[in-house]
Amino acid sequence: MNINAFFELSSKIVTMNEYFTNNMQTILKDDYDHFMASLKKKEVKGFYLNTKKVQDTSFLDEQYITKHPVVENGYLFDYEHYPLGKMGYFLSGLYYIQEPSAMLVSYLLEVKEDDYILDMCAAPGGKSCYAGMQLSDAGLLISNDIDTKRAKILSGNIERFGLSNVIVTSCKPALFESVLPEFFDKIILDAPCSGEGMFRKDNPAIETYSKEKVLECAHIQKELLDTAMKLLKPGGMLIYSTCTYNTLENEENIQYLLEHYDVSLINIEKKAGMSEGIGIKEAVRLYPHKFNGEGHFICKILKNI
Ligand code: SAM
Repeated sequence: MNINAFFELSSKIVTMNEYFTNNMQTILKDDYDHFMASLKKKEVKGFYLNTKKVQDTSFLDEQYITKHPVVENGYLFDYEHYPLGKMGYFLSGLYYIQEPSAMLVSYLLEVKEDDYILDMCAAPGGKSCYAGMQLSDAGLLISNDIDTKRAKILSGNIERFGLSNVIVTSCKPALFESVLPEFFDKIILDAPCSGEGMFRKDNPAIETYSKEKVLECAHIQKELLDTAMKLLKPGGMLIYSTCTYNTLENEENIQYLLEHYDVSLINIEKKAGMSEGIGIKEAVRLYPHKFNGEGHFICKILKNI
């Protein structure tokens, strides 16, 4: 980034939406300044290996990569000196480039090789590729995104990974309710969100952010959660995630589930700078000043039998 672009971004962060900064001050208290300072640092990039194709990183220049603190086969890399996204290995599907906090979602799903999995909002495919590569031919992944253009990119990434037991669809997830009720062992709901966790790397996320957007996302997220509950088998697991910090899109949606469905929360062990959810200690909040990534909320929900 050149110096002018840096100052332009910094000024956007300093004058960032007051609704966001007030909320973050309330959430983080004494940690708020550390959080804001972390938004001015360069973004963190990672990748995970496609274990269907490679088992280790010996084909890479290992001086530019470090192990992800939690995710098996996950790494962080120095993208300024080692542009992994531009290499033939990438096009051959030997790895997927994904930021380190997002990488935790599918890792925490604890996929079994014969699981039937639905990824409701899957494009461009970071969570689907990780989950899909762990399935045997006895398993199935339906990887869906409502946006057809994005679903095509998703399809390309699934093909690049060489996954054969995956069906890519592009529809409103509610369409599955009548044809596949209580069908899935596991569901990934990486919901569309207001994107507060993207503010370091994604200028459009800052520009389109508003309180109204948060409220609109929270409404859509509840609808998607209702659909997930209809599609999940009793005894099945839903993993809910967003790349935002607002409690309306995170803990309040989990509270909604607890009040309306027979579900329990599965605790996520806190490691490497992960924080507890607010009032939901089983969930995880990932802040860029504590966990080396861009920012996420993750919660695991069990549909009781
Ligand atoms: N899980 C993806 C990954 O790891 O690569 C990222 C998903 S992104 C956070 C959210 C996705 O939700 C977008 O691709 C968007 O097209 C999709 N989406 C938005 N509204 C939706 C809806 N009502 N139903 C299903 N998907 C939706």
